[in-house]
Amino acid sequence: MSKKCVGIDIGGTTVKLGIFEESGVLVEKWEIPTRKENGGAYILGDIAESVKAKLAENGIQEEDVLGAGMGLPGPVLPDGYVEVCVNLGWRDMNPAKELSALLGGMKVASGNDANVAALGEMWQGGGKGYSDVLMVTLGTGVGGGVILYGKIWAGRHGLGGEIGHMHVRDEEKEYCNCGGQGCLEQVASATGIAREARRAMAASDKPSAMRQFGDQVTAKDVLDAAKAGDEMAAEVVEKAARYLGLVLSHVALTIDPECFVIGGGVSRAGTYLTDIVDKYYKLYSPVSENKGIISLAKLGNDAGIFGAAKLILE
Ligand SMILES: [Zn+2]
Repeated sequence: MSKKCVGIDIGGTTVKLGIFEESGVLVEKWEIPTRKENGGAYILGDIAESVKAKLAENGIQEEDVLGAGMGLPGPVLPDGYVEVCVNLGWRDMNPAKELSALLGGMKVASGNDANVAALGEMWQGGGKGYSDVLMVTLGTGVGGGVILYGKIWAGRHGLGGEIGHMHVRDEEKEYCNCGGQGCLEQVASATGIAREARRAMAASDKPSAMRQFGDQVTAKDVLDAAKAGDEMAAEVVEKAARYLGLVLSHVALTIDPECFVIGGGVSRAGTYLTDIVDKYYKLYSPVSENKGIISLAKLGNDAGIFGAAKLILE
């Protein structure tokens, strides 16, 4: 039997799990709830029981499992130590070591979930075939992950790939969650796009399809309206894409990756969005035609389990 590995993506509500062939083929995926009671004390035990049961159900022997990888919603030190993981209630622990003990000594690796998702997209998603990739996740915030030589580059202080907090505009007066002003996240995240839309509506009396949503306008409303030809919505999207293109041009001239993978809810706008990002990316880095390409993420919510499984194969 070919060797298998397990991918685990721990979120604040559910834990996603998957069994993979070494080749990257997903054998089976499933979910269990994240029990956060009691400082998250039951999470790892639940995972261990679920993994054991699922391996048995599939007739997979322990010796055929190379190990289990785990993505966690917070900073993880290279030895697996977690100082604090707010979303799970964890403090001062080494979840990789604990899970390994619960799984009878199975090899367990762990990493920050954004970085792990980037690894997954490099392995079997929008960055497949490349080994130097910057993943950008445009969701509630803007996350990122750097993969170099096929491995996660978390940086010396865990800041590697935190492109959402790169400063892009001086005019911004509101504060970002990080304490900064003018972060990319404030304009290019789903939250940021919705806020820019509210600002645009307040700043003029021009008609726009976005007005029917009022203050409840979402990034999806903005992107849909822009795609349908709404001028004001198109300007909001153009601004978000321009700042993202600016950041990508800076990253291209710093680590020169082969590929930028754009994922997260906002990326569902597809090539409508990435074509504008690409326009500014090229405009802002005229120094060379030969640089990383921009592609769309392919794995959606499964990127985390793919990347977690890949952690074991590094
Ligand atoms: Zn910030």
